[in-house]
Amino acid sequence: MQLKSSIAILKGVGKTRMQQYEKLKISSVKDLLCHFPVGYINCSEAKTLKELKEKEKAAVEVKILNKKAMKTRNNKYIFKILAQDKEGEIVEIIYFNNAYIYAALKIGGFYKLYGEFSDNFHSKKVLSPLILNEFGFIAKYGLTKGLTKNVLVSNLKQAFKLIEDHEDVLPKSLRVKYNLLNFKAAIFKIHFPKTAQDYYSARKRLVFEELLIWQIGILKFRKQDEKKKCFALKDVNLKEFLKGLPFSLTSAQSRVIEECIKDCSKNTPMNRLVQGDVGSGKTVVAVALSFLFAKAKKEVVLMAPTEILARQHYKTFCSFLNGFGIRVGLLVGGLKKREKSELLEKLKTGEINVIVGTHALFYDDVVFNNLSLIITDEQHRFGVKQREKLKNKAYAAHVLVMSATPIPRTLALIFYGDLNISTIDELPPNRVPVKTFWVTSKKRDSVLKFVLGEISKGHQAYFVCPAIEEGENFKANVLNYAETLKENGFKKERIGILHGRMEACLKNEVMLKFLNREIDVLVSTTVIEVGVDVSNATVMVIENAEMFGLSQLHQLRGRVARSCFKAYCFLVSDFLTKENKQRMGVMCSTTDGFEISKKDLVLRGPGDIFKEQQHGKFNFKIANLKRDFNCAKICRKEAEEILRKDYELKDEENLKIKENVEKFINNSLTVL
Ligand code: ADP
Ligand code: MG
Repeated sequence: MQLKSSIAILKGVGKTRMQQYEKLKISSVKDLLCHFPVGYINCSEAKTLKELKEKEKAAVEVKILNKKAMKTRNNKYIFKILAQDKEGEIVEIIYFNNAYIYAALKIGGFYKLYGEFSDNFHSKKVLSPLILNEFGFIAKYGLTKGLTKNVLVSNLKQAFKLIEDHEDVLPKSLRVKYNLLNFKAAIFKIHFPKTAQDYYSARKRLVFEELLIWQIGILKFRKQDEKKKCFALKDVNLKEFLKGLPFSLTSAQSRVIEECIKDCSKNTPMNRLVQGDVGSGKTVVAVALSFLFAKAKKEVVLMAPTEILARQHYKTFCSFLNGFGIRVGLLVGGLKKREKSELLEKLKTGEINVIVGTHALFYDDVVFNNLSLIITDEQHRFGVKQREKLKNKAYAAHVLVMSATPIPRTLALIFYGDLNISTIDELPPNRVPVKTFWVTSKKRDSVLKFVLGEISKGHQAYFVCPAIEEGENFKANVLNYAETLKENGFKKERIGILHGRMEACLKNEVMLKFLNREIDVLVSTTVIEVGVDVSNATVMVIENAEMFGLSQLHQLRGRVARSCFKAYCFLVSDFLTKENKQRMGVMCSTTDGFEISKKDLVLRGPGDIFKEQQHGKFNFKIANLKRDFNCAKICRKEAEEILRKDYELKDEENLKIKENVEKFINNSLTVL
């Protein structure tokens, strides 16, 4: 009860404080207790002055010998205090203007100091050291204007007293099984650890709680879906559709389409992830299913993460489906009012069968006649609320997610709950793999010459920079880069730029020009990463390649692997670290996305990979999926076990879990 209360119940927390805390997203007592330190100063071990190296930061215990205050010319004070440690070594302690501490330090008294010690003739010297109550770790916190650490700590100490034993979220059985501290002890030790072990054991327990709630949340969320009944496909016939295709399906594509059809022929909602390397032909899977649903007079929505991609899919869907009398619509942000209201009207009456769009699809004014299939491209992640919004437009719909970054099954299960996975593990025939080279910037000139050569053959080129404009970090940026190209031989070549801060309509215009070959060179940030298909582009140069993850680099170069022309990718990177050499080596030696994703996993761990794929928006307070992946696996197992025994979380020992899971689902869970 107490933990859920507002922090207003704490002494000294009034309106102003509450506002300050609000900035740190703290409103309840529990929020405050879970405002974990961002780091610690290690004062756990007392050293002697003699053993300190020059400029070493350390904690020592000293006895004050004498002290004096000196006034400077501009009326400020310097306080000089002489002290010695137990070996008789002398240290000069200096404070500027801190009369309070000066007065507090008594001659003959013993004090514990923490600071940076430097050599000073025959003694040591330390400026403005911290005075410690006891040796241990000192927590550092994220603070906000007006809220000092002292205030925070004093509020924390008060809040700590309100923790009652029975309020523990983790059942005792789990705490015993995994040797975990109770909540109260963990909270104390995370804020006020005396030893490194205190911190580790506190962290272990708090991470466990967070990941367990997450996993139960994911599992429960999925199960809610499964309970609903939805439309089931009947009398499936794709013959006509397949005859109209300009190519024949690979056997992997056929298999995956079959798998989806099987799911959709049941009246429980499909929940399937289709993964396949860039260029493996995922789109046609979505088109084939859309065909079947449209023929059954049900509507389909396809969500794309960017307007560029939505427009591209719209074109593809039209070209494959219009011939069968299936009507496809496009809903993006920039539509004119009349266009939009016409479109919405047609959706409502079922006149449009397939609607392709971006986030604009979430709005309340979008109403469907009989929405039955939701497809999202490129692992677009929704928050629970967003997804619910879309799903509420249908009573229950089948869900298909397409992703170009393959992940191992065990990982997928942890991140998405019980999700079925189909894999397109085969590329359409006659694909020429992208030749990839790692160069340092010294070789850039010859790379540019090579690019000019490709353009003179009538091809197009991408340049990818990590930044948009000049910043402090000396990374290549789109704006300068486009300028420098002109000075470096790109005189008559038509150069376009593309980045995330441009208006959507401007982005489309540039992309369209590139597609229609009115632009030869596109200098861009990673906004081109997802799905964009310009088959005449044959070369890509990626600057500061060390900045990108392997899977991301693979996605990027996938943009030039879309045709039967020979394609090239140059990774420019001056980083000669062992890790970077290894990474660049992987990129140059394989074009197999699965292989690369596996290497990425080994080199960087799962956490980073998900972050990069924008799976990282988990808002964990303390867990770190890279570091705590093993714990996530354990929590998954325990979550299943808990739900198996008590699905509704009605048992006494699960009540706290239930409460927290509900909060988590509503506030922070993101799902596919
Ligand atoms: P991705 O899996 O990256 O989304 P796409 O669906 O965009 O790939 O397909 C890439 C290109 O390959 C498209 O131009 C598409 O028309 C073509 N394609 C897809 N399947 C086949 C196939 N079976 N045979 C030949 N070309 C194909
Ligand atoms: Mg695609």
